[in-house]
Amino acid sequence: MNSRRNFLQTLSAAAITFPFLPLDASAESNTVYNPPYDGPVLKVAIMGLGSYGTRVAEAMQACKMAKLTGVISGTPSKIKNWQSKYNIPDKNCYNYENFDQVRNNPDIDAVYVITPNALHHDQVLRVAKAGKHVICEKPMAVNAKEGQEMIDACRNAKVKLLVGYRMHFEPKTLEVIRMRKAGELGKIMFFQGLSGFKLTDTSQWRLNKQLAGGGALMDIGIYAINGARYMIGEEPVWVTAEETKTDIATFREGVDETIQFQLGFPGGAVASCLSTYNMNHLDRFFLNGDKGFAELLPSTGYGPIKGRTHKGELTQPHIAHQTIQMDEMAGIILADKVPIVPVDGEEGLRDLKIIDAIYASAKAGTRIKLGLA
Ligand code: NAD
Repeated sequence: MNSRRNFLQTLSAAAITFPFLPLDASAESNTVYNPPYDGPVLKVAIMGLGSYGTRVAEAMQACKMAKLTGVISGTPSKIKNWQSKYNIPDKNCYNYENFDQVRNNPDIDAVYVITPNALHHDQVLRVAKAGKHVICEKPMAVNAKEGQEMIDACRNAKVKLLVGYRMHFEPKTLEVIRMRKAGELGKIMFFQGLSGFKLTDTSQWRLNKQLAGGGALMDIGIYAINGARYMIGEEPVWVTAEETKTDIATFREGVDETIQFQLGFPGGAVASCLSTYNMNHLDRFFLNGDKGFAELLPSTGYGPIKGRTHKGELTQPHIAHQTIQMDEMAGIILADKVPIVPVDGEEGLRDLKIIDAIYASAKAGTRIKLGLA
């Protein structure tokens, strides 16, 4: 403990409090900076113990600044499993009826909502009312109106609202953003975002409009929307979109199978994107400027992300996305750390406004103007 203290004393005051992982780790170094840590820790309850909740919980075991301390689930057997796996006491376990009681639980600072999309709005409102910070999975809600209500509720309750945009902390993604900001790609002219997979399990809530709020665009196309914004570094001013449906039995009314969309940016760049539930091998970002290019392929899967630019291969280290995300989000919530790419409710809301406009454009067959600034 003494040597740990001595080590910490050699660091600056800010670094002592939050020795964040080096997101700009040099290309040569594949070792992750791993100092001891005894600063504040964000105590997190996960709501929704499904496939992504399970992945987040696993990744959180390597976090320094975030700790899984509670669960919220409607399935008692899952709660039991998680309790024994993660050493969670009975007093930190809730169901969907009683989770408002987290209000009185000092072991829980924040609730991470990882349930089907259409449930996020009401669940976030309840967590905010209980006075706890909220991390909410993407899409933050199923439309911009709901998103705005969530932002207002969290602001009124004086709690933070973050959206689970894990790519905003991913080292190769951040390197491309650094290069673009430094002018190394020149004037940005074009972005391509291909986001899709073949959805084969037709029993999923993802094909139920009531729970999903839409189709592929809500679930996977949102990566291309969000990526276009952080790769180009501007907010789009118009959108056009066309929908294709080849399987009306699987993708029923209101559940989009494939949408192609274009976003126009104030600096003149255009993004051309594809969102689909009916094709595999679609996870590619390509950013083109008048001095160079960057390609991420895969660009948003769980990784390792791979990429190259006109200067060569990207070699930043792979760290489980959710581990970095949760440590960084702990810093944002506990110490007002400012991320390179925002992950707050306003960021989630911009994507929802674009999603609303893409659906409107596909329906009307016309270009829709956006007012996101
Ligand atoms: P999932 O079906 O595997 O898990 C959903 C969980 O919600 C289950 O445990 C289920 O029991 C629970 N649930 C609570 N109420 C429910 C209801 N009324 N109907 C159905 N399930 C209910 O889904 P998932 O893949 O874990 O997705 C959950 C959320 O996480 C979605 O919003 C999704 O977009 C998001 N997600 C994000 C990422 C990412 O990389 N950031 C990846 C996958 C999923």
